[in-house]
Amino acid sequence: MRVLICGGGVIGACTAYSLARRGVDVTVVERTEVACAASGKAGGFLALDWCAGSPLDALARRSFALHAELASEMDGDWAYRRMNAYSGFVARDRDARRNEPAALDWLSDGTVISHRIGTPDTTASVHPRKFTRAMMRAAQKHGAQVRSGQITGVVRRGVEPIVTGIEVEGAVIEADATVIAMGPWSKLAAEWLPLPEVFGQVSPSIVYDTGADVPADALFLEFQDASGDELTVEVFPRADGSTHVCAFSGAAALPPDPAHVAPDPDVIESLRSLCERLSPAFSADRIIAKQACFRPITRDYLPLIGRVPRIEGAYVATGHNVWGILNAPATGEAMAELIVDGKAHALDLNPFDPIRLARG
Ligand SMILES: Cc1cc2nc3c(=O)[nH]c(=O)nc-3n(C[C@H](O)[C@H](O)[C@H](O)COP(=O)(O)OP(=O)(O)OC[C@H]3O[C@@H](n4cnc5c(N)ncnc54)[C@H](O)[C@@H]3O)c2cc1C
Repeated sequence: MRVLICGGGVIGACTAYSLARRGVDVTVVERTEVACAASGKAGGFLALDWCAGSPLDALARRSFALHAELASEMDGDWAYRRMNAYSGFVARDRDARRNEPAALDWLSDGTVISHRIGTPDTTASVHPRKFTRAMMRAAQKHGAQVRSGQITGVVRRGVEPIVTGIEVEGAVIEADATVIAMGPWSKLAAEWLPLPEVFGQVSPSIVYDTGADVPADALFLEFQDASGDELTVEVFPRADGSTHVCAFSGAAALPPDPAHVAPDPDVIESLRSLCERLSPAFSADRIIAKQACFRPITRDYLPLIGRVPRIEGAYVATGHNVWGILNAPATGEAMAELIVDGKAHALDLNPFDPIRLARG
């Protein structure tokens, strides 16, 4: 069996890994670079039970367990670690005292911690770029190939509703199964296939080299922006000594080429100034990246994981929104089961079946 995976993000990499482990002949086609988009620029935060009560719960729990297994069983270091998580707020009055006893020494006084919302049993993190690339390398060790090129269409058998491959810059690559995993750029595939709509939401972030100055404490802090709106800033310290800070998500046009995604300098400046209020660890001379990336989103905010409606040989795995790094391992596992065995065993994929949002 030959499977083509369109897109070398975390979803494509984990799907390639799960298929290649089962002896499937896999080729991943990536336009720019493996993990060049959200999968390389995300926070990398993982939570066991933060999707409880939603259709994502089983996917998240299975993925959280697989992340731990992968980190203990596979070669490579992608900064997997268990951590605490706290909620709180950034006080308007910089002299506000922090609530005891949950004070965290590395934060400035105006940063107020109110609750512990995750423990090392329930929350963890990875470095997303390192994780995605390690999964792709592991897939390659099992025989998968990674090919560079821009996918420009799918190939059908005559007028029949059967996909037999893809077009990559004028060349045709044939396959028994084709998986669309191009993150927000999966919207392009909706021109070739009856796929539900996929959108992109942009998020800027700054990565700091904080070394050992910041402990394993993820933070979710509310603050008021200049116009008085309540927003949240998320802080994810990683085991490799880098800390990812993200806020001010919003709407923006998705550039057709993933290589052209760039942060808005004014938004980055607002984020930098906010970071300096949070902790002295976030000083400008420690910045190692100012970046932006687009999360893939669907109309009901749930991922699309399954067969493309009414077309044989075509599958989709995208729309993972804020939980793509967490949910990639179980998505890859389920896609491999669906493609090879005809049905996912470890998970019920019904809530994610693309048919629910299919266009007429
Ligand atoms: C700032 C930020 C923070 C986040 N933090 C977290 C977090 O803490 N935890 C978590 O679980 N999730 C997080 N996420 C969400 C997560 O990053 C995404 O859900 C996930 O990375 C999506 O992966 P993907 O493989 O679907 O898409 P992408 O990473 O976008 O990959 C798609 C790939 O397809 C390629 N491609 C596009 N078009 C073509 C084409 N025509 N031909 C060939 N290749 C093509 C692109 O180059 C790209 O490499 C965050 C997202 C953002 C933006």
